[in-house]
Amino acid sequence: IQSRYAAQRSPQGAFLGAIANVRDVTEQKIEAEMQNTFISVISHELRTPVSIIKGYAETLARQDAAWDAATLREGLAVIIEEADRLAQQINTLLEASRLQTDSMRLELSDWSVRPLVERVVERFAPQAGDRFTFQIDIPDDFPPVHADYERTRTVVENLISNAIKYSPNGGLIRITARVSGDFAIISVSDQGIGIPLEEQKKLFRRFYRVDNRLRRETQGAGLGLFLSRVIVEAQGGRIWVDSRPGRGSRFSFTVPLATPMLSDQMASGEIE
Ligand code: ADP
Repeated sequence: IQSRYAAQRSPQGAFLGAIANVRDVTEQKIEAEMQNTFISVISHELRTPVSIIKGYAETLARQDAAWDAATLREGLAVIIEEADRLAQQINTLLEASRLQTDSMRLELSDWSVRPLVERVVERFAPQAGDRFTFQIDIPDDFPPVHADYERTRTVVENLISNAIKYSPNGGLIRITARVSGDFAIISVSDQGIGIPLEEQKKLFRRFYRVDNRLRRETQGAGLGLFLSRVIVEAQGGRIWVDSRPGRGSRFSFTVPLATPMLSDQMASGEIE
């Protein structure tokens, strides 16, 4: 609370009273703090890929080095990958800052879950190497959903990227989909460090990162899950986590089905 106190006096200087100007500045302070965090996060996040790109480009451009074609191609592949990462991070940050003012605009259509998941898993394969096994448990005839394809892909990407990031020993990453009422529940589970119960609700807040060893060793702005929650909720769904420290985590979110399946599924006994 900020207060300004002004004594009121008569022209002769006699004390008449006082006007206290009390204003709640807590809101403003939080805004300013968030902006500061935002700026430091942006500079930290964006500087890393930029310095990798610069380092590789400088090395490849060296006058005295005669790189063979394979080395050149490898170096250029890293540059392209980092540039992609940079572009993606800029999008995430822009999106997260825009959310303060605008509500999210969605492009809804009907699409199948499995191909989307397969596409995301393929994209992560180089990063996952042979430390991780991916298992996709989604039936081919899984009913289509009605949602924003690109945005939902961002959510799945965030969850799989986190599963990799927070599983220092590798392991199994399993992606499943099942029907519950008018929704598909998509889950990503890992065998990573897990999350203490008291932290689980906070993960979906803007800029929140759990204070553990990996917080210092991994890069992150604490925006991925916040953004995922905004996307999922804009589509009328919800997102949550089940986790046990030391055992692993399972993040789940719901997406509306294209056509409510309730009667069909109940008839064939597929629903729980
Ligand atoms: P970031 O990964 O950039 O920190 P996120 O919003 O994606 O931001 O995640 C917020 C925090 O939630 C992470 O910093 C991490 O502490 C925790 N977290 C997210 N996913 C997992 C996971 N699969 N296993 C353990 N902790 C996780």
